[in-house]
Amino acid sequence: MEWTLDWIGWFFDAVARRAPTSIQVESTRYLAGAVGTWLVVWVLLGAALSARKIRKPTKRGPQIRRELLYSGSTVLVFMVMGVFVYEGAAKGWFRFYSDISEFGWAYLALSIAGLAIFHDAYFYWTHRLMHHRKLFKHVHAVHHRSVNPTPFTAYSFDAIEAAVNFMVVPIYCMIVPMHDIATMAYMWLMIVRNAVGHCGYELMPRGWTRNPVSNLFTTITHHDMHHERMTGNYALYFTWWDRWMGTEHGDTNTRFETLTDAEAAPAETPEKAPA
Ligand SMILES: [Zn+2]
Ligand SMILES: [Zn+2]
Repeated sequence: MEWTLDWIGWFFDAVARRAPTSIQVESTRYLAGAVGTWLVVWVLLGAALSARKIRKPTKRGPQIRRELLYSGSTVLVFMVMGVFVYEGAAKGWFRFYSDISEFGWAYLALSIAGLAIFHDAYFYWTHRLMHHRKLFKHVHAVHHRSVNPTPFTAYSFDAIEAAVNFMVVPIYCMIVPMHDIATMAYMWLMIVRNAVGHCGYELMPRGWTRNPVSNLFTTITHHDMHHERMTGNYALYFTWWDRWMGTEHGDTNTRFETLTDAEAAPAETPEKAPA
């Protein structure tokens, strides 16, 4: 009993100490990613990208308000989980290092690429699990209330889903040495890619799906179709897990090509009137 009370006391004390900085860091990251993507893609480039709008616009006001609310709850979950990471780091649970020369710059870049590959696998399998009929409504339904996503959908999660998503970086850092810069760079890459991945406009260049290398990376259409159909296209960055597991929608590339090729099609020249 005394041990439990000590632990609860420690937890609340740690949360109180870390809360102001942690909330500031997490909400800045979310707002910079989501608002930045909204400003650039929707406000500045919306008209120029109209041919690349993946789906017809739907009523967005109430949806964005709900997404902001749930994103606030995700920031709180990240803050609480962050307490354990900071305490764990102090206890040496993670393989963080601070001197770049210890492993060199090439290793630093590789550690980020390795994290992206690990994250993609982690996301694919946890995401598929969350679609299990017994789990979906408890852990993943909130994210899918955004049937036609916006950049603000990026953090719109149920609390359990937020906690599961948070854990990927700490798990990786228990196994692989990560420099602070690499971890920070990845956290920013993650929110920007997440906000862009929900932006509703296809941003990848024409021919993306026809090139054997770029074809390994998911398009914006890929995840948009996951929200539209509530199934299939489960992966995050790469297309291989969906292809290996037969969960990629067969018309994903056709849909992408229809959007991007239509934009490049030459305007029809009006026929000359007979003299
Ligand atoms: Zn899903
Ligand atoms: Zn999504």
